[in-house]
Amino acid sequence: MMPLRLAWWLVLAASPGVAAASPAASPGIVQDESATRAELLALRREIARHDELYFRRGAPEISDFEYDELKRRLRALEAAAPDAGGVGDDRTGAFPVARHGAPMLSLDKAHTDEELGAFHARIASRLGREDVVYRVEPKYDGIAVSLTYEHGRLLRVVTRGDGSEGDDLTANARVLLPALPARLSASAEGAATWPARVEVRGEVFMSLTEFARLNAEREAASEALHASPRNLAVGTLRTHDPADVAGRRLELVCFGWGVWERGAGEGPPETLASFAAWLAERGLPVAGGVQIAEGRAGMLAAVAAARAASAAGDFPTDGVVVKLERVADQHVLGVGPAGPRWAVARKFEPERASTRLLGITWQVGRTGVLTPVAELDPVALGGATVARATLHNADEIARRDLRVGDTVWVARAGEIIPAIVGVDKTRRAVASQPYDFPDTCPACAAALAREDGRAAWRCVNAACPAQAARRIAHWASPSALDLRGLGPALIDKLVAGGAVRGPADLYRDDAAVFADLGSGAARRLREEIAASRARAKADGARLLTGLGLPGVGRESARKLAESFGGLAELAQADEARLRAAGLGRATAQGVAEHLARAEVRAEFAALLAAGLGETWETSGAAGVFAGQTVVVTGRLARWTRAEVEARLAAAGARVASDVTAATTLVVAGEAAGSAREQARKRGVEIIDEAELVRRLEVR
Ligand SMILES: [Zn+2]
Repeated sequence: MMPLRLAWWLVLAASPGVAAASPAASPGIVQDESATRAELLALRREIARHDELYFRRGAPEISDFEYDELKRRLRALEAAAPDAGGVGDDRTGAFPVARHGAPMLSLDKAHTDEELGAFHARIASRLGREDVVYRVEPKYDGIAVSLTYEHGRLLRVVTRGDGSEGDDLTANARVLLPALPARLSASAEGAATWPARVEVRGEVFMSLTEFARLNAEREAASEALHASPRNLAVGTLRTHDPADVAGRRLELVCFGWGVWERGAGEGPPETLASFAAWLAERGLPVAGGVQIAEGRAGMLAAVAAARAASAAGDFPTDGVVVKLERVADQHVLGVGPAGPRWAVARKFEPERASTRLLGITWQVGRTGVLTPVAELDPVALGGATVARATLHNADEIARRDLRVGDTVWVARAGEIIPAIVGVDKTRRAVASQPYDFPDTCPACAAALAREDGRAAWRCVNAACPAQAARRIAHWASPSALDLRGLGPALIDKLVAGGAVRGPADLYRDDAAVFADLGSGAARRLREEIAASRARAKADGARLLTGLGLPGVGRESARKLAESFGGLAELAQADEARLRAAGLGRATAQGVAEHLARAEVRAEFAALLAAGLGETWETSGAAGVFAGQTVVVTGRLARWTRAEVEARLAAAGARVASDVTAATTLVVAGEAAGSAREQARKRGVEIIDEAELVRRLEVR
């Protein structure tokens, strides 16, 4: 069993100078060009079904690209056969519903510059002039929200829903959105002149850095990767218990308003620029990268510039929004059935490439879950060579009727993870056969089982060597016991030898464990293992992280270490006790179920027998950076380089000069260099000086 290469879904091999592979033909998603009423109705039903899957169940069956293709086809049909249009609905039924004061409209979409030109022509003709002033903003790809403030106080946060009412997520937003002010700041003059009631419209999203960091953590824990930053932002904001998503960071950006009741306070702005200034002054985050452009040519140039710049931003985006800058102009255009006539979203299609599916391999995770990976004929995509793509589970292969040998379309989902977005069935070989799913584990040949209601197949053999190797790799990872000498090849060798079936076996004083290693290698490994034993004793959060309890990362492990004295006590814990320790509802339930499993009990017993986890200490604030390898880049206002390095070292960090696979944190100051970009690519957490000061708790 090949261990999963760390972050294989990141850029595999940069190939500068390779021209973007542009599709020569449509991917075969839209086949029938005849616009019939029956097709229109069928398409509406199909889109409603995908809306239901995406918005209510959080389990989309098709890619955003395919969805957009369906919507585009629908629009074409509707244009040919005018009829009342419908909008999507993101209400889940799991939250109280609140009405919007003014409807939350969706934007009309343009997929080509010709469509943008037509948008301009309509506006210019209506306004009676060509020198129309536009605002071109990045289109953030997250979840749309409306924030209601009354006399400057946050009243509620509501999703778009069906446009007239949405889910009330106020309680979650208050906890999960650090950028959301509970009170608006007073004006520069100091007078509290807020409008009596205002609905601020914006988007909640997850930064690409945060998304990559969370996926790197999941990969290290051999858990299935999150599919896209948008889905993750949506799922996080809609959590049933914020403690379940502790440690995930969401962002907010504001760009519009609905109701604006002046009362004794300020009236609505006259331009979008003055609105942005108002937002900033009141403490609400505004979009960067905004351009003001005039006329058709100016607008198209701004859109092209925004497209070129979109890859450099740290947020998921699928296009730009073009709006009329002057509110008086907006009123002249008004609102049509599909949305405001004064704004349009220009969608950028993800870059795609066509290649052949050479095979499907199955990775066995720490808990036995099998994850399929598409092996591709290497193809240039977005400046990188892509040879593998994510397939989330067996259902996805079956639903797409994906076959080995097929010609497939690959895109970088959310610009990050290569994914298969379409199959070109017109190029399928006549002799092609449906994919033959494995019924046994590729590592141990044990029969596979499928849990009720879960899409994943699992190897249920507690002695599966692939699972043992993944458990040991997780135990050895930097945020756990930090056994740096214990790499994937060495782990495979130890497991293949038969004497090592889990982390506990490393700590048995038994020569057989190291029998297959040379004497020098065995001695070095034993020294590292002895050091890790001391680490487990000195910091219970490390040992608990190493256990790989479901949903328990470093943050939750620290809570458990502080609440439980040792493994024996933890093994007895039920769901209520775990919740009392600070775990979220879903995490507590998952951990309680995990602790009841016979193989987990056996593993705890083996660790205790090996002298691990009887008791532990908890690291205080003095060791906030314990176990971290930190790189500082750029200038800091507060400290010289030598001072900050000394402070980091005193807080337990290893300080390094370059970003490598070992780096866990980058502190980026003013004029941060390439280290920042390196860190972003690798999914390493990046913090600014203010956050460093906060973590060091210095004032
Ligand atoms: Zn197995």
